[in-house]
Order: sequence, then C-alpha cells, then structure tokens
Amino acid sequence: MLPAIDHVWIFITGRCNVRCEHCFFAHKSERLRLSSRSQDALFRFLSAAGKKQFIISGGEPFMVWPATRALLLRIRQAYPQAYLSVQSNGLMMKPGHLVTLKSMRANLELGIDGDEAAVAASRRGLPRGGFQRLCASLSAARTAGVGLSTTMTVTPQNVANLSDNFMALLGLRARAIEIHPAFMAQWRRAESRLFLQGYRRALASELRMGERGLISREYSLPAKGVWDMVILPDGKVLANWTFLSFPEHVREQFVVMDLSKRDGEFLPAAKSYFSALRKFLGQGSAPVSYRRLSNFNASLAISAWGNPQSGRCFKEYVRLCDEIEQIDLATIRRRPA
Ligand code: SF4
Repeated sequence: MLPAIDHVWIFITGRCNVRCEHCFFAHKSERLRLSSRSQDALFRFLSAAGKKQFIISGGEPFMVWPATRALLLRIRQAYPQAYLSVQSNGLMMKPGHLVTLKSMRANLELGIDGDEAAVAASRRGLPRGGFQRLCASLSAARTAGVGLSTTMTVTPQNVANLSDNFMALLGLRARAIEIHPAFMAQWRRAESRLFLQGYRRALASELRMGERGLISREYSLPAKGVWDMVILPDGKVLANWTFLSFPEHVREQFVVMDLSKRDGEFLPAAKSYFSALRKFLGQGSAPVSYRRLSNFNASLAISAWGNPQSGRCFKEYVRLCDEIEQIDLATIRRRPA
C-alpha cells in the first residue's frame, strides 16, 4: 500500500527574481517550468492517494502567474477541501493575484526575515523599494482576506537579532510566523544558543500579547503523513523538501519518481528509500513530528554526500531542532488550543 503523503509541494518554476542566501532550493535551474505532461501524471497518481495539503512554490510562482493560476484552479477543482498555499517572496503581487487566491481559498505564505536590514541582507538582488513592496503585499493580502502565514528564516549571521526581527514582523501585523533556522547553514553551538535565547524571548512576547497563533508550531507537531511529494520543475519527485538543498548529484540519488517520463511509476531508488523510511518509523512508538521526519530525510542525503563540514553543521542543526521542538511541545502543553 502507498504510504500516506504529507505535503504535495509543487515547484512550478525554477525562476526567481532574487537570490536568497538561505534559499532551501539552492540548486535550481532557471530554465525549467513544470510541464503539463508532468502535471497530468501527478493528478492521475494523486487520485489514488488519500487526504493531502498542497503547496505551490518555486522559484517565484508569481513570475509564471498564468501557470500558477491554472494549477490553483485545477487543484481546487479536484480537491475542494484541501489545504492549498502559495509560497512567495511578495515582490510581484498584484491585486488580481489576491482576488484569485481568495476565490480559490488559497493561503499566501510570505518569506520575510524581519526588518528592512534583515530582508536586504538575506535577499541578494532585492530591488530598491523591495522591502516596502513586500510589506505592501502583506498588508494587501490581509485587507483582501487572504489566509496569510509568514516564514522568518534565521541564519547564523542574523541570529543575534532573532527577537528584534520577530518584533518587526509583529509590527507589520504578520501572524502564523514560522521561525525557522536556515537549513544547511553553518550552525555551531554558539549560534544555536543565540537562536534558543531569541526564540524564548519571542515566545515571551507572544505570551505577553496574549494572542494565539503568532508563532507557527506546525513543524513540531506529528506529521500528517510519512512522505512528501516534492515535484521539481523538471517533473522529478523527491520524498521530502530537505533533499532540495543538496547538490544535484546527491539529490538525484533520492528521486523516487519522474513524472515527465513515467506515469506514477516508482523508480528503483524508491525501494531503498521507503525501506529506510519504514525502518526509521518503526523505531519509536510516539508519532514523528514533521521536523524529525525532515531531519531523517536530510540525514540520508548527508550520508550520501559525505561532506564532513556539512555533516558537522547538520549535527548541530538537528540538536537545535530538537530543542526547538521541546520548547514548542512544552508551550503547547501549557497552553492547549
Ligand atoms: S525567494 Fe524563495 S525561491 Fe527565491 S531565492 Fe529566495 S528562498 Fe529561493
């Protein structure tokens, strides 16, 4: 039987209008856009699978708006009740985009790392006035009644400003803020400590404000499925988002399907992947959080890569993620929804 899918991430394009330091889709090709053949194959495959949540990502999905719009429509028609979200850097939003998102009941997930200095530092190629445009997108989405969440990526370089950046986002009236340590960044113990200090300060601010849902804790909760369908713009499918951050020769080893060539058929690599996944899931009795599931996947790629420095930083990253999870779970226990 097909293991339950958690997220379906559709990377509709490799094109982006900025180059973020912490981009988790680090090795993408600008030239590629998801073909209709791959989309057809995806929908045929999904018709047999259970409940799902869909995320359209890139690159920047608003750079290929007609294709993004058509995909939104198609998902909504096929899955009227599914969670549907579009990830964006917010630099190209137009009022018409928001009308479509609203009518499709699609969430908008904006990446904002904090105040203007933080955003300018992390996004290379940010145009003049880019931060103001991003703030305007956030505000327009809220006014239009589009479901809104934000991702604040924290790097070892800006970690000392974590709580200030969090406060800057609250000042913009951002909500459901995912505070995420940059994956595959050079985490060492000193920076992890700073992260945890800043994170605790952010929690204290959330508590003081007495408003629920300022910080998203979704990654610390049990995963809703056991693998992701991460569809790359060339139609290849990975089983978790973390694989996106690895060089192509590593990533390729974890391609479980190729929708551009074969209809819903698993490739030979899928067999060993799913067997490793089952072994991992069989180890504990408690449900696995999405954070741990993702880190398990990343550990497979780290071993395949054999890059000692990345291995060390990843170890520290995992330790940091475990602590974040403990803090999140303790907070949830103290303040159940
Ligand atoms: S906006 Fe998103 S896709 Fe573009 S470079 Fe930044 S993180 Fe990567």
